Amino acid sequence: MVTTILVLVPAVKDPLLAWISLGDEPGVAPAPLERVRALLNTDDRFHGIEHLGPEVPREVVGVRDALRAHLLDEGPAELDALATSHPVVVALGAEPRLVPLSATDVVAGLLAEVYEAQRDGSWQRLKACANPDCQWIYYDASRNRSGRWCSMGECGDVMKARAYRERGRRA
Ligand SMILES: [Zn+2]
Repeated sequence: MVTTILVLVPAVKDPLLAWISLGDEPGVAPAPLERVRALLNTDDRFHGIEHLGPEVPREVVGVRDALRAHLLDEGPAELDALATSHPVVVALGAEPRLVPLSATDVVAGLLAEVYEAQRDGSWQRLKACANPDCQWIYYDASRNRSGRWCSMGECGDVMKARAYRERGRRA
């Protein structure tokens, strides 16, 4: 006699999704990097809104701020420090990759994604808008990665107008 034991495996829900908003234009990144971009934009400097409330673990806020610093070339020291307490392991298979040692470790999941993005070059396309009043994190999909603003309509034009005025003042 064969006994079948049915094991119901609950779908592992991504806890990060409770706090971030995927797909906010402009500059949506391809998945899975979009998770990182959406987290970065919870610090919405354009509207001056902090979207991460007191219910969000401080380490998630910490990794967000360290990611922004790293994105702005301030070095990975803070991220490296976080990584020591959020281990990732190698998962071999058709597509070898790094995964969090603990499936519920949000910080380790983010660090693994950043690692993959740095390896495949997509991290280099993640940028902070050069408009100091905006600083929106966007994915630069331009062919030569030369974009400077989150969107030409809302930020590029403002910055160009400012540069134009400054040129006029000097002339
Ligand atoms: Zn912008």
